[in-house]
Amino acid sequence: MEGFVHPDFAPVIEKVQTLMSKRSAEGGMAVAVYHHGELVVDAWTGARDAAGTPWDRDTMSMSFSTTKGVVSTIVHRLVDQGLLDYDVPVATYWPEFAAGGKDTITLRHLLTHQAALHEVRALAESTETLLDWDAMTKLLADALREDYDITALSRAVLTKLAEAADSALLRELLGEEEKPRLKEYSDGREIIDAILEFAPHGLSAAALTGIFRKLPPRLYSIASSPLAHTDEVHLTVAAVRYQAHGRERKGVCSTFLADQIRQGDAVQVFVQPNKNFRLPADHSAPVIMVGPGTGVAPFRAFVEHRAALGSPGKNWLFFGDQHYTYDFLYQLEWQDHLKEGALTRLDVAFSRDQPDKVYVQDRMIERAKELYLWLQEGAYFYVCGDANRMADDVHKALIAIVKSQASISDEAAETYVENLKKNKRYQRDVY
Ligand SMILES: Cc1cc2nc3c(=O)[nH]c(=O)nc-3n(C[C@H](O)[C@H](O)[C@H](O)COP(=O)(O)OP(=O)(O)OC[C@H]3O[C@@H](n4cnc5c(N)ncnc54)[C@H](O)[C@@H]3O)c2cc1C
Repeated sequence: MEGFVHPDFAPVIEKVQTLMSKRSAEGGMAVAVYHHGELVVDAWTGARDAAGTPWDRDTMSMSFSTTKGVVSTIVHRLVDQGLLDYDVPVATYWPEFAAGGKDTITLRHLLTHQAALHEVRALAESTETLLDWDAMTKLLADALREDYDITALSRAVLTKLAEAADSALLRELLGEEEKPRLKEYSDGREIIDAILEFAPHGLSAAALTGIFRKLPPRLYSIASSPLAHTDEVHLTVAAVRYQAHGRERKGVCSTFLADQIRQGDAVQVFVQPNKNFRLPADHSAPVIMVGPGTGVAPFRAFVEHRAALGSPGKNWLFFGDQHYTYDFLYQLEWQDHLKEGALTRLDVAFSRDQPDKVYVQDRMIERAKELYLWLQEGAYFYVCGDANRMADDVHKALIAIVKSQASISDEAAETYVENLKKNKRYQRDVY
């Protein structure tokens, strides 16, 4: 052992040495003892990391249990005196402690490691950060905001929650024969709803982070051509907002982009190429694009690109949404493209502007003759946007158009459309 020991306290060092000699794994330790304010032992020994770096005078050891011995002695005495209670939230005595969802953590949780506050060690890169209150608070908040998916309520999350909360009710809901009931329950609900319902007494920090999965990235179509906007990438993002089960809900990524970031802020992005959704290599081939809502995004890029290249091919866009007044994305740009010839045709369907709902597939059927003619001229057919209903409805409309215009059977029309797909003349990017 290195360091200093007052002769009267030599037995302390002997104890430490016995302890160290019993250890099978490598490691090290330090011991400091003050007696009536005077330093009587200050000694250290062993290695401070797996590489065997020696422990030295200034080695700092972050061990939450070290101070626990002292603090818990005081706590027990205060409990004996009736000044504290093990099972009352710490926030009762220290309101600021409630920050960041710690309002239900009690002294008992803390003293028995159930609060899992020690888990924060994994978040910090250095001891300095660990000791910096503001930095650690931010790291914890950032982890919940940026690293974990804290909303999407999946079967996997509910299964982990059933374990963590030891909820018989939730286990029952997860039973094989309860699938329809589970689906109904999950619809429009988020993780917080399930926690409030099935873990009414709250969860420890470790149990809580244990039920989350990593936050998955969100994909957005690139809505601009690099030829039209050098060094820029434009996106068309619809902010997801809805009311469900008595609360206002917000899409994580879309409302982050819409509400939280400011000009000049940086966000993490990556590019995911899609080889199966491209303009034809033949610049003179006609192109038909069906892109309601944000599905119009890649088609803005397509038309800009063809305009910039001066491609001779014809371009036809079907666009749709709810209201002409609010939802006509890039209206002025389409009008300019029409005027300049980059866009040959534009057909729009605003479903809520008249008593009968009209969708892009209805416009396609109305223009069946011309659409089929374009296909016969070798047009490429693209669909982008909603996968739930729109993509299927458009697919059916396409088959119906081919069937009626070519006067062929259902099967033959389906084969025609299948062949379009095989020849990469029917491409979809639906979500
Ligand atoms: C290839 C691809 C391209 C895409 N391109 C675009 C694009 O160009 N523009 C664009 O805006 N989006 C695009 N998306 C969708 C985008 O990736 C996100 O899914 C979308 O922005 C929602 O993400 P979020 O994080 O805001 O919402 P989340 O937090 O993921 O919430 C969405 C979830 O909320 C629930 N929900 C939504 N509305 C309701 C409701 N009314 N009632 C009940 N529950 C509801 C649903 O469970 C839904 O899955 C694309 C997706 C893919 C896969």
